[in-house]
Amino acid sequence: MTDCLFCKIIAGDIPSDKVYEDDAVFAFKDIQPKAPTHVLVIPKIHIPTLADAKDPAMLGNLMDKVNHVANDVLKLEAGYRIVINVRKGGGQEVFHLHAHILGDTSGKTRLPF
Ligand code: AMP
Ligand code: ZN
Repeated sequence: MTDCLFCKIIAGDIPSDKVYEDDAVFAFKDIQPKAPTHVLVIPKIHIPTLADAKDPAMLGNLMDKVNHVANDVLKLEAGYRIVINVRKGGGQEVFHLHAHILGDTSGKTRLPF
């Protein structure tokens, strides 16, 4: 979608601090981190919210890649929190489905993030 911030980030039209990319997902650092490590994982196809996602295989792959990024790329060995805000009432500000990965590689910071 041409008018979507995260679609523009995927396309490279807006710069981002990328941590992972494959054929289906893109992961980059949140510009206003709420934890020592704060990364967003997004599908490359434009889906406005989790509630609009009708493809279980896409959602399964997204969660698989969230695990891959959190464990193998970010090395959040002490653990991490996954947040998906849904619609305005759920705190969603950017209407392109995204999972927040929140954690601390030092293991020192505990919840709440
Ligand atoms: P949400 O409230 O779940 O829609 O989360 C949107 C997130 O996108 C927020 O945590 C913002 O800090 C983040 N964000 C907004 N613009 C950018 C950007 N250009 N690059 C990286 N993260 C962004
Ligand atoms: Zn989009």
